[in-house]
Order: sequence, then C-alpha cells, then structure tokens
Amino acid sequence: MPSTFQSTARDDRMIPVEEAQQRVLAEVGLLGTEQVPLVEALGRVLREDVRSMRDIPEADNTAMDGYAVRSSDVADASVAKPVTLRVIEDLPAGTVSMKHVDPGTAIRIMTGALIPPGADAVVPVELTDAGSQSVQVNVPVAARANLRSRGEDMTRDSVVLTAGTRLGPAEVGVLASVQKPLVLVGRRPTVAIISTGDEVVEIDEPLAPGKVVNSNSYSLAALAREAGALPLTMGITADTKEATIQTIEAALQSDFVISSGGVSVGAYDFVKDALDALGASTRFWQVSMKPGKPVVLSTLRERLFFGLPGNPVSCMVSFLLFVGPSLRKSMGQKHDLIPPTVIGKLDGVLRSRGDRRAYQRVRVVARDGELIALPMSAQGSGVSTSMIRANGFAVMETGVTSMASGALVPLVLFGPIQTD
Ligand code: AMP
Ligand code: MG
Repeated sequence: MPSTFQSTARDDRMIPVEEAQQRVLAEVGLLGTEQVPLVEALGRVLREDVRSMRDIPEADNTAMDGYAVRSSDVADASVAKPVTLRVIEDLPAGTVSMKHVDPGTAIRIMTGALIPPGADAVVPVELTDAGSQSVQVNVPVAARANLRSRGEDMTRDSVVLTAGTRLGPAEVGVLASVQKPLVLVGRRPTVAIISTGDEVVEIDEPLAPGKVVNSNSYSLAALAREAGALPLTMGITADTKEATIQTIEAALQSDFVISSGGVSVGAYDFVKDALDALGASTRFWQVSMKPGKPVVLSTLRERLFFGLPGNPVSCMVSFLLFVGPSLRKSMGQKHDLIPPTVIGKLDGVLRSRGDRRAYQRVRVVARDGELIALPMSAQGSGVSTSMIRANGFAVMETGVTSMASGALVPLVLFGPIQTD
C-alpha cells in the first residue's frame, strides 16, 4: 500500500557514504546553550568567543632560575675571566622588585618573576657560581636571553578560543587562565534509543532458543555518551507496525531518535512503514557500504531519526559514520565532525565481496613510525567481538575483492592510534 505521507525528497538509490554524511549533516540544527562550571566543561562545545582581558604574561619575566643582569655588563665574561656582580636583591616568583639593576649589579631571580627595571637578560644559575652576596658570571648573554615576553601566550583583547571548539584539557586550562569560572556551551542532545525485534530480549531475561540479548541499546548508548549526548534507552519494540509507531511517538520527546533493526526488506521490518505512517520525511534508506547498507534517515517533527541496521557491527559502524557527526554538530562543534581518513599499511589480508564499499574493522597501531592496520580475524557483521579494540575501518572500494598484506589502504579512524 503506497503511503500518502511519502516525501518527495525520498531517494531510493543506494547512495555513497560521503553523500549520505553530507545529507545527514545538512539536516542537523543547532541546539540551545547553557552555562556550566569550568570543572564540568570537559568534552562540551564552546558556544562563545572567549577573549583574554590581559596580556599573559602581564610583563617580561624570567624563564629560568638565575640572575637578572644588564647584558652589556657580562659581554666579556668567560670561565677564565668571570665577571663579578653585586647581588642587590632576591626575587621569588610572585614578587615585584622595587630596585633598579644598575651597572655592576644583579638580582637573583626565580622562574616566573618579573624582570626588574634596568636588567635586560637572565643568566641561568648553572652558568654562575650561584653566589648570594655577589655572583660570578662565566658566560656572556644576549639581550633578552632567557626572558618570556609580555603577551607571548595571549595578548589583551585577542580571541583565544572561538565558538564551536570542543573543550579538551588544554582548552579548559586556557579558560582558567582568562578567569572564566562559567562557560557557555552547547546543550547536550538527548538521544532516544529503540531496539526492534521479536527475537531480542533484555539483558536480565532468560534466553530461549533463537533469542539474542539486546546489546545494541548498550553499545549505542555508550557511543552516544562518548559523543557527548545523553542517551535514553526505550527498551525493545515488537516487530509490528503498531508497536513501532507507538515507540517512535514516545521517543520524539528526545532531540534525536535512533533505532536498531527492522530497516531491511524482510517481512518483519516495520521501521520505514511506521515512519511513513507518522508522516516522517524519509530522505534515504540505502547507503553503499558494508556492513550497514540499510540506514534510514528521516525527519519527523523537527527531529532526526536514524534507522540503523540490527546487526551489532553494522549498527556501530553506521552510528560512527552518521550519528556521531550529527550529535557533535548539534552541540555546535565546527571542526572534526566526520572521522578522519589516513593511509596505512595492511598487516594481514582483507577480503570483500566487492559489491559495495566495505568498512573492515582494524586496529591501527604505530610501528616504527608507520601506521599499520591489523585486521580483526572475523569480519562478519554479527561478530560484535570484532569491534573490541578496533579503532579504524580499512576501506575497500566497490570492485576490490582482496587486499594483500603490505598494501596501502585508506583507514577511517574513530579512535586514537594505538601502540603496537
Ligand atoms: P534486523 O536488522 O532487524 O534484520 O536484525 C538483524 C540481526 O541483528 C538480528 O537477526 C539479530 O541477530 C541482530 N539484532 C537485532 N537487534 C539487536 C539488538 N538490539 N541487539 C543485538 N543484536 C540485535
Ligand atoms: Mg529485526
């Protein structure tokens, strides 16, 4: 029965991954903002430009423990003929000298202390006799030697972090330096997670023959959390159109909805029908990739709906390629939405049917300065353990049926490069 709600925008072609990613991202709107304490800002996305109100450092200071001197005083110093200077003060970091370094004098100074007037360089303590009343300097120093310049870290009124930056430890540190105890960040999206399938049972239910444990809800919730979102699992939905409609309705309270299973062309696959009945606009439902060919993208009441395949690996692969980037964009992240592709060398053999682009699970390690891809021993889309320790997908294009050990291969990285 043709649906009266079917969108004219629906694309029944099998579309390339890149096109699917672009189309998905084009649908993602920006969520609102909230203020969070800096200590909770890690992993959030900054939504304001942040400026430094001051020069940091505020003035020239010393990068070394040593003696603040006039470089002209020590121009002729050598080990054989050291120059002796009178030490007129001791200057720990955090104190400011009231004294002037006149010719023939020096101030003992600790790392971070501001350079006193008159001095234009610092002699490291290791190049002196470390004296406290007077000091013998054994080497000449150039003007400005061992100084940290005013404003070398941040200059007054300059933007040090821009809206759209994901906050890691370094960014959090810089926000502290510019005295931002509260930060404006993107709200975390809520993500409803629906598992479909009459064969699927909950983690604490008895396993009858033919049943499988609902692992997808857990891996998807973990992936959503890792992407910065707040997952909400909606349990298991029976393979009927009515039940699927009901669950999707309830899930629309969340910013995003993800389902697993029920998107193929089997007799019990109801996700597409349920979406049509709800008036969703389905944009595409087939992507040229393996695993994960059936991936539904729909929009429904200003929500994005991702219908992911049920096989545990297909489900995770399609999340990493399509859902993760969308969640990041919704929080306001401007860079690094899509996992990067690098070239590495295969250590092992890969095979594929060659009918679609294959994303084969690999562990990407650094070996002697090279990126090496170690294929997982089993590559079936139901082999969930093939994702354990995987941090990349080796891409085999359509038409390629095998790749020999040693071949160079594109690697989509979804985790940090590991140690061999
Ligand atoms: P489907 O895409 O609905 O045809 O499901 C394909 C296969 O994925 C099923 O036969 C199950 O073995 C598996 N599967 C579906 N849903 C889940 C789930 N929530 N957790 C683990 N495996 C699942
Ligand atoms: Mg199913």
